[in-house]
Amino acid sequence: MSSMRSPLSCDILIQGGGPVGLACASWTLQKFPEAKIVLLDRNPVNDDDLANADSRGIALSHGSKLLLNTIHAWPKESAQIHRVHVSQAGRFGRALMTREELNQDALGHIIRYRDIHITLRQALRAIQTKSPHFVWQHVGKQSEETSIDAKCIVHAEGGLFKKQDWVESGRDYGQSALIGLVEVENAAPHQAWERFTAEGPLAVLPSHYGPNILNLVWCGSPESSQYRLQLADVDFLNELQNEFGSRIGRFLKIQDRRLYELGLNYRKEITNGNEVWIGNAAQTLHPVAGQGLNLGLRDAFLLAEKLAGVFSGSIEEQSPANVVNALQSYAQSRKFDRTSTIGLTDFMARVFTSNLAPVVMARGLALSALQWIPPVKTALARQMMFGRR
Ligand SMILES: Cc1cc2nc3c(=O)[nH]c(=O)nc-3n(C[C@H](O)[C@H](O)[C@H](O)COP(=O)(O)OP(=O)(O)OC[C@H]3O[C@@H](n4cnc5c(N)ncnc54)[C@H](O)[C@@H]3O)c2cc1C
Repeated sequence: MSSMRSPLSCDILIQGGGPVGLACASWTLQKFPEAKIVLLDRNPVNDDDLANADSRGIALSHGSKLLLNTIHAWPKESAQIHRVHVSQAGRFGRALMTREELNQDALGHIIRYRDIHITLRQALRAIQTKSPHFVWQHVGKQSEETSIDAKCIVHAEGGLFKKQDWVESGRDYGQSALIGLVEVENAAPHQAWERFTAEGPLAVLPSHYGPNILNLVWCGSPESSQYRLQLADVDFLNELQNEFGSRIGRFLKIQDRRLYELGLNYRKEITNGNEVWIGNAAQTLHPVAGQGLNLGLRDAFLLAEKLAGVFSGSIEEQSPANVVNALQSYAQSRKFDRTSTIGLTDFMARVFTSNLAPVVMARGLALSALQWIPPVKTALARQMMFGRR
């Protein structure tokens, strides 16, 4: 990995060394090792400096696993989901999805954000050894993008809702997510629980720490979430048990509580001339359906195909017009997956947060339908596992 002075020009400038930017650089270089890419990265050079960074549990789909395997970027520590139990607090309607119904080894995998991030950095470093024109430039808070002349600019600056310096289309759900690690007595192994409460979804997901240590994602109003953040452990566990009931087992311990604000922020257009936006820089989603990074990885994979196609061609084939055409073709190819994933996530975030009686009733019916109409359940699960391609 190098920390070098700014080169004056390159073919592809990737801004953002998060999972999506790293994956995009890796796939492009894997397909075309001669690519002249500069990656601007605000993260520290040493992985050790990320060891205490973001420990959020992220649900990655089977489709993402297949993609990451192509660059040997699947983290060693992950927890499989074999069953998902979906229910509503105090209301009728529940559904159970199992890996057997879908004929898969797992419905999904839970991995810490920092493990995904660090594994992708390691994968890119391995690819870098065979990529003579790749420059990985570590920058401070002030990036040096203005001094670099590029034929194509890939925006992968990511960011969290309300922390981004752009706001376009979207929705503020008036929700925060409280996340943490919770210990449960005799938890069912490999089981994920998603419960829809009066304030929003509450998920308890497996972790690689062992069968009884689970990832908690508790969505609620910013005020309630703040209140829960500050509660003493014992009071917090009581509140959690009240929301969840006894089905999951007894909650014993909570640690590493943190808050995130939640909302939808997305760009209507993901290209502009020779610029393109991918991952959270293109769309920032509510985590209710666990789709943000999965969608971002698909963005990165398909964009890499287009970029490698253009820049491995002759100088004429790399003309500004061809670059713009390739990006437009990329945007077109992402339309369906992007629109349906944003739409499904927005729908779930709104419907599963509403307390209006007809919505509550419809929600119960929908969950029952999921349970009793297998094709509906399979179609939904497949969308979550693979997206639309
Ligand atoms: C509570 C919560 C739970 C979630 N759960 C899931 C889940 O279960 N499944 C799922 O798929 N997704 C989930 N997500 C979403 C997921 O975290 C994001 O979709 C994913 O992190 C996006 O990756 P990214 O690389 O686009 O952006 P980021 O992860 O934000 O990375 C962007 C990187 O770019 C850097 N950067 C920013 N600006 C610049 C610049 N100008 N120059 C250089 N570098 C720059 C930043 O430092 C950062 O390292 C969740 C999100 C939240 C908040």
